Amino acid sequence: MKQFKPLLLLFISFAAAAQKPTSISPNQPSWLSLGPQITFPSGSLEGNSSNELVLSAKAYLHDHIGDLNNPNADIITTQNIASPNARYITFKETFLGDEIYGTSLKISVDKVNKIVSVISKTGNIDNWPSNTAIPNPDTAQIKTAIGACDNYNIKKVWVYNIDAGVPAYQVNCQKFDGSRDEELILDVNYNIILKQNLGQNYKYPDSLVTMYVFYPDPLTSAMSTYRPPYSTYSLWISPTTGDTFPNTNNDSNSKALDSQMIPRPIRVSVLNNDSFILENQFVAEKDLGAPYAPQYPEATYSKTPVFHFNRDTSAFRDIMIYYAITNWRDHLHDIGYDSLGNYQIFVDPSGFTDDVSQFYPPSGGHAGIIYFGMGGEPDAEDQDVPTHEYTHFLSYAACHDCSSTGNERQALDEGTADYFAASNSKSISTYNWEKVFNWDGNNAPGNWYGRSCAVHDVYPGYLDTNSEIHFVGQLWSSALMQIWDVIGRTKTDRIMLETLYSMAGGITMPQAAKLFLKSDSLLYNKADYYTITYYFVKRGFLPESYLAVTPQNSQIWYKITTSYFSTANKVFFDFGLPQTGTFSLYDITGKLITSQIVSNSDHVEFNAPPIAAGIYVLGVNTEGLQKSFKLLK
Ligand SMILES: [Zn+2]
Repeated sequence: MKQFKPLLLLFISFAAAAQKPTSISPNQPSWLSLGPQITFPSGSLEGNSSNELVLSAKAYLHDHIGDLNNPNADIITTQNIASPNARYITFKETFLGDEIYGTSLKISVDKVNKIVSVISKTGNIDNWPSNTAIPNPDTAQIKTAIGACDNYNIKKVWVYNIDAGVPAYQVNCQKFDGSRDEELILDVNYNIILKQNLGQNYKYPDSLVTMYVFYPDPLTSAMSTYRPPYSTYSLWISPTTGDTFPNTNNDSNSKALDSQMIPRPIRVSVLNNDSFILENQFVAEKDLGAPYAPQYPEATYSKTPVFHFNRDTSAFRDIMIYYAITNWRDHLHDIGYDSLGNYQIFVDPSGFTDDVSQFYPPSGGHAGIIYFGMGGEPDAEDQDVPTHEYTHFLSYAACHDCSSTGNERQALDEGTADYFAASNSKSISTYNWEKVFNWDGNNAPGNWYGRSCAVHDVYPGYLDTNSEIHFVGQLWSSALMQIWDVIGRTKTDRIMLETLYSMAGGITMPQAAKLFLKSDSLLYNKADYYTITYYFVKRGFLPESYLAVTPQNSQIWYKITTSYFSTANKVFFDFGLPQTGTFSLYDITGKLITSQIVSNSDHVEFNAPPIAAGIYVLGVNTEGLQKSFKLLK
């Protein structure tokens, strides 16, 4: 979600519930809101296949998590997903076979099954009576209690209480038009005790076309602030709230804005051999929520491989969203994360009337939907918005049930979504890169001016003055952009994507910072440990002591290129951190031929004098690398 905070976790009816003996005690929400434990144990799991690893993970957790010692406690797998670098297996705790609501255990292992992290939130059930069971639910009573849904999914769960499990029903309810997507917990008397809003194989051939899009938004490409001739000043009144917004359909300024469209290549599907349509294996556009036609009368297509529409057409918004999401997917492909969220979701380019866009995770009737707001400057016209929203989907795909619990965890999702929007924008143009939503965030009547990914606030002090998740998220996006500036887009993006898999519900920013460092060690062997740690310490996510600790493996990341040695007597080195030291070339008898001093450099060109054909040894001696390389001439 871009702007307004939804009420994600809503506790209601506690006063009423507390009067009944089988209900939850008033301390219940405090257990649910507790964060998980996170540890980084050494050790490995046994097993080759995915199934063997799950069994081995179960055995490991039973051995190491005290709450699971009780013979009535067990765990069931809820997600088992592999990133390009690691495997992440998630479980829930059960009591007598039924899930305990709010528990989770997650273990991650690297490619050689070495344990990376264990995150757990379990309940101690030693006091729970074992002669108990959850009665079967009465579907009719549940429907009466929760109201109309198109799709119900009901399961028996225990709600945690130290003295006894409270029998309850977990109901997931969706309406296909997207107006309801909720998880509700009802006690056995059908009182709602918790309510939470939750946010195919591809069949057509595809083809490369040209799309005229804002890249990434009209102000950045024009290198202009929000002012004439690009701004839109007349007002538009929301039919739902009566609020007024700048009207974007009054296009006296349309020539200036249209001139900011840039032709970009992108792949689309080909239907019936004659139409190019805005659909691919990752995204399809549908008119799912109000307002319906005539604002969105029909699917946008083209009979030629060029999509060029005026800004005042719905087709332009359609192609902007399609382009931004497909562009994000292309980047994922380029950096080796194609497998993340590799299925089709729906987008509704004219979802809600006001200036809000939101991702709804998959449920019963759909695989995930993003609605885009129409108020102010339409959200779709700013690539930052679809990039932000699609990141929420990727976060969901990497870790289900993960980003809806805990204020800081939600803030981490918003900050991560802002980070990827900024990472994309800044790779296109550095103009005004600090601002997220450069175009959309100019809604004066809605008091919406976008966000920054270059704030100076620090954790945890900032949370005392502002706990709103989107603003807290700026701490995370700003720290990541500082790291981006030093180690580059590709590395920072990859480490963050890996970290998405490793996260869990309820985690804090310091815990996420540790997981981010773990991802760096998984992907780059701690090459950027100091850089990342430096900015996380400065931001207050990690204590100063982190900078004093020498990484366990002091050898830094490097890349050697020897292919020019035989022809040009040159060897190239790239280091993860700038190095100081000496490069020395020896012949096969050990005689020194030449040496070269290196001073604070992360790219080294080593030059040998003219030498005869034969075998040589290059000794590298810097603070981060002491190693010999055999060279052939
Ligand atoms: Zn968001």
